[in-house]
Amino acid sequence: MSTTLLGIVDDRALGSSMRLIVTRPDRLEAAWFAADAVIKAIDETASRFRHDSELSGLNRRPGRQVRVSPLLAQALSAGLRGARLTGGAIDPTVGTAVRLAGYDRDFASIPTDGSPIQLSVTHVPGWQAIEFDEAARTVYVPAGVEIDLGATAKALAADLAASAAYEATGSGGVLVSLGGDIAAAGDPPVEGWAVQASEDSNAPIDDEEETISIQSGGIATSSTTVRRWTRGGVVLHHIIDPATGLPAAGPWRTATVVARTCVDANIASTAAIVMGDWAIPWLTANGLPARLVDHQGTVHRVSGWPEPDAPSSSNS
Ligand code: ADP
Ligand code: MG
Repeated sequence: MSTTLLGIVDDRALGSSMRLIVTRPDRLEAAWFAADAVIKAIDETASRFRHDSELSGLNRRPGRQVRVSPLLAQALSAGLRGARLTGGAIDPTVGTAVRLAGYDRDFASIPTDGSPIQLSVTHVPGWQAIEFDEAARTVYVPAGVEIDLGATAKALAADLAASAAYEATGSGGVLVSLGGDIAAAGDPPVEGWAVQASEDSNAPIDDEEETISIQSGGIATSSTTVRRWTRGGVVLHHIIDPATGLPAAGPWRTATVVARTCVDANIASTAAIVMGDWAIPWLTANGLPARLVDHQGTVHRVSGWPEPDAPSSSNS
């Protein structure tokens, strides 16, 4: 089988590595331009690290009804979809809890070992507290509630960037990866899109690592091993259990999920870390293939995630 000649560009966006791959290398520049515009728009709209983002503006004005842009409406709707599908394991009102755990700025500028902070079980207000009218694009966030779309906005950016890049190429196929949140659009290469399952999206491509092939849709990884830090000797990380307001303490340190879109894959991967053991029946019931890594490094493949190929030497 011949392999397809691909056009690839690597960049940085949304505080992560970004990779764009097209099956029409002659259209790479147009695809990149289109993807880049979408990603910049998501950053300006839904980043909580940018004081000037539309989301930061919304968080500064709780307690009143606000009309939002179509893109913020889409990002809010993705976040609330996550809450509905996961029974609240995903909850866009974790903003204050995430900030109190010390994740209050771009990850690159968080000290890896800082002074103690007083962590206590806090009440996450709960996503039902948000009144959102999608058609009218109005949202009411009660006073004291801070919205964080971190778990869905980057995945939405990958989905929208892949569609925009595909439209710009006119034909062929496109893959966009934003720090391990991956979306495909159009026709995949004949051999499919090969995706390496790593715990760190910055890990180099390695032939020894487990790789799966996807044709369409999305794949996302959530991990407590990369975005983690220490305060007063206590290890903290960025995925909050809304039930406690504290970093999730379940058995999985990394979850990778395949779904129809990158948003749905990322909803499931973040939720799997929060749900812990319950993630296995939930992923299975929802037909979402997943690869879970526990704290000992043991890999659990569930809901149809393929077993890795046996090493070729054993076939001889
Ligand atoms: P990554 O950003 O590494 O892809 P995730 O997709 O799992 O990781 O998103 C984690 C981010 O989502 C956190 O940095 C935080 O901003 C936000 N978050 C943390 N816990 C939750 C939660 N329970 N529900 C919704 N968002 C969350
Ligand atoms: Mg993610």
